[in-house]
Amino acid sequence: METITLQEFQDRCRAQGVPREHIAFKCPRCGTVQSMASLAEAGCPRDNLEKAIGFTCEGVFSNIGGFRPFRATRELPLRGCDYSLGPRHAHADLAVVHLGHSYEHFAVATPEEAQSLYRVISLLGELFEAADADAEGETSA
Ligand SMILES: [Zn+2]
Repeated sequence: METITLQEFQDRCRAQGVPREHIAFKCPRCGTVQSMASLAEAGCPRDNLEKAIGFTCEGVFSNIGGFRPFRATRELPLRGCDYSLGPRHAHADLAVVHLGHSYEHFAVATPEEAQSLYRVISLLGELFEAADADAEGETSA
């Protein structure tokens, strides 16, 4: 496990060069690159995003979350696994030290990985909006 300061952690996040909700981390078990935006797409409740990011793999939401039927109709692959950091899963790749405390966290993704996910999520958003607009057109016609 790598141990870094909060400053170093923030520097790595900034180096990704993406908007805050697209800052990406990697699940230590399945390696899925994920951000708050991708967690939201997977079905993570909005008010849980800050707590889940870097701690709970996207698969926890995409594989068992209430949004699964929604995802299935879109024919999008489900990503991630059921991994979550915690006492029973002490396999974090990263520990962030701040004010004498150490916090386990998923590793920060590389700028390339973060930007690649950012592009995919942005594209998905556009596709979903187009599909929703089509669906609305059909129901009102
Ligand atoms: Zn995972």
